[in-house]
Amino acid sequence: MDRASDYESEGRRFESCRARHETLLPAALPRARRRAKQPARSLEMKMDATWMAEALAEARKAEAEGEVPIGAVVVHEDRVVGRGRNARERLRDPTAHAELLALQEAARSLGRWRLTGATVYATLEPCPMCAGALVNARVDRLVYAVPDPKAGAAGTLFDVPSDPRLNHRVEVSVGVLAAECGELLSSFFRSKRVK
Ligand SMILES: [Zn+2]
Repeated sequence: MDRASDYESEGRRFESCRARHETLLPAALPRARRRAKQPARSLEMKMDATWMAEALAEARKAEAEGEVPIGAVVVHEDRVVGRGRNARERLRDPTAHAELLALQEAARSLGRWRLTGATVYATLEPCPMCAGALVNARVDRLVYAVPDPKAGAAGTLFDVPSDPRLNHRVEVSVGVLAAECGELLSSFFRSKRVK
């Protein structure tokens, strides 16, 4: 099924997804508090918001191009080495997801396929294809804003980054700029329904 149409009745579904996300937050709080006591961790959280804002900017570009607004960036040694935004319609390519395009650009920038030391920031939880690509690319870490109850493969429907049967594990953080990234998706599908 087309990913856009997956979201067509989305407003409601997405709101329930956000509600679900909010219910997830209290469980994450003790860890967040522990983190806050550690200056290195609190800096990491601040940087996570900074980089997620870059991914959100990519998502906004996708929206302007009439695509489902999803964006991603790859960060290595405190700089963005890859950017991607959903381009399925524009490229007429079922694999043109934000995360894959960002990984491809990062591999070109770094001159290697193995993206050890990199963190991927995505506005929506990656699908099975993209979560698989993160494992194949050997990225250190994935940070995503909003869980995807329809296709999420980083903790929702599947948990590819943490699956012990695979040969690489990716650390996952959820919820950075969730309100902003979620609102962009919700408003996109609201406007689609009005048309
Ligand atoms: Zn994907």
